[in-house]
This record gives sequence, structure tokens and C-alpha cells, in this order.
Amino acid sequence: MYMRYFSRLVSAMAGPRPVVFSGPSGAGKSTLLKRLMKEYDGVLGFSVSHTTRNPRSGEENGKDYHYVSREAMQAGIDKGDFIENAVFSGNMYGTSKAAVQDVQARNLICILDIDMQGVKNIKRTDLNPIYISIQPPSMAVLEKRLRDRETESEESLLKRLHAAQVDMEISKEPGLFDVVIVNDNLDVAYGHLKEALNEEIQNVKKINVSS
Ligand code: ADP
Ligand code: 5GP
Repeated sequence: MYMRYFSRLVSAMAGPRPVVFSGPSGAGKSTLLKRLMKEYDGVLGFSVSHTTRNPRSGEENGKDYHYVSREAMQAGIDKGDFIENAVFSGNMYGTSKAAVQDVQARNLICILDIDMQGVKNIKRTDLNPIYISIQPPSMAVLEKRLRDRETESEESLLKRLHAAQVDMEISKEPGLFDVVIVNDNLDVAYGHLKEALNEEIQNVKKINVSS
């Protein structure tokens, strides 16, 4: 009895394991994550990154990203406010320490949506997340999804497609990701995602019910 209480206490103190999502721009990360966060409200919390890119229509400051100037972002990086940061398609992105701490303080599974440079940098920290890669079925499908989304200029689109090619190659590296999900049919991909996170989600639900 005492041991069960003790081990529960220790795991609650350590907090749930964060989850890193990565994969080419347009693969469907945000679509899958929004659905997941809605279904598991009170279990998952999104790490709101900083970026210097402009908000897209429908995006909210403080919810999708913290939209900041290059000067403000650089000042934050210089001060040591960020766990990791990267330049993607000409814009700066970064995960602040506060973004992760805000979620962990609420005892939620912290969800990070970051690019491949971010994945490599997080691997050098003690965050110890589960790494999930969301991949498109093909480059042709990816290009169609990005074009149909109508959020990118031609220049940004080409940069993202180039980064996607590199990403798809690196993602094959053994051990880099714990789970790779090909997002062809959305419902099937979502099912795989829930399966991959089921154990962690159930653990958090148990702890939150008993505390
Ligand atoms: P990411 O966050 O990885 O950049 P998004 O979630 O914005 O990608 O998805 C890119 C576009 O593809 C969006 O317009 C989205 O509605 C669409 N999309 C996502 N998943 C699928 C899917 N399985 N089948 C068809 N379209 C999809
Ligand atoms: P988008 O402009 O489409 O929202 O994001 C572009 C890319 O930046 C995506 O691959 C996304 O995962 C990545 N990204 C978003 N936030 C961060 C962050 O904080 N750090 C890093 N390294 N990449 C991020």
C-alpha cells in the first residue's frame, strides 16, 4: 500500500512525459493536434512557441504562437529564455522555458510542435519526451495540401517543400523517433496517434482523478 502510494507520488512529482511532434510543414500536425487537444482537454497542454512569422487568418496570439519581432525574439534567446530555437523558412521559432513550465505546472502532458532542428536540440536536453513524426504519404500529396491550405507565398511554399524533402530523409534515421505516423487517411492516422499516446494519457487521467 505504502509502496503504491510512494511510486504514484514520485511519478506525479516528475510530471507526465512531454510529447514532441515533428514532420514536414503541411503533413497535418496541427490538424491532428487540434483534434487530440479537443478530445483530451484537461490531459494535454500545448507548448505555445514564439515565432517571428505573421499570424495566419484564424490564428490567435498566445494560443497558436506568441508573435514577436526579431529583436524581441533575439533578446529572449540571449537572456536564456528558450529551451531551443531555430530558423525555419526564413522565420525564427522557439520553445520558451515558460511555455513548457506553464503546462507542466498544471500536471498535463506537454505537447511540442517543432521542426527537425528543434528535435535535434531537444535531444540534448533532459526533457525526455516521446518523439512522434507525422509524415505525408508522398511529396506530391504534401505539395497539394500546402497549396490548398492557401497560407504560403510561392517563395515560402518552395522553402517548405525543400525542408520537407530533407525532413523525410532524416526521419528514417533509426531511433530518432519513437513513432512514425503516415497521415494519409486522417481518421486512420488519428487512431494511430491515440494508440501511441494511450498509456501516457491513461496514467495522467489516473493521477488527476486520485489527486
Ligand atoms: P502542418 O501543421 O503539419 O503544417 P496542417 O495540419 O496545417 O499541417 O495540414 C496541412 C493541410 O492539409 C491543411 O489544410 C489540412 O486541412 C490538410 N490535411 C491534414 N491532414 C489531412 C489528411 N489526412 N487528408 C487530407 N488533408 C489533410
Ligand atoms: P508554421 O509556420 O507552419 O506554423 O511552422 C513551421 C515549422 O516550424 C513547423 O515545422 C513547426 O513544427 C515548426 N515550429 C513551430 N514552433 C517551433 C518551435 O518552437 N521550435 C522549432 N524548432 N520549430 C517550431
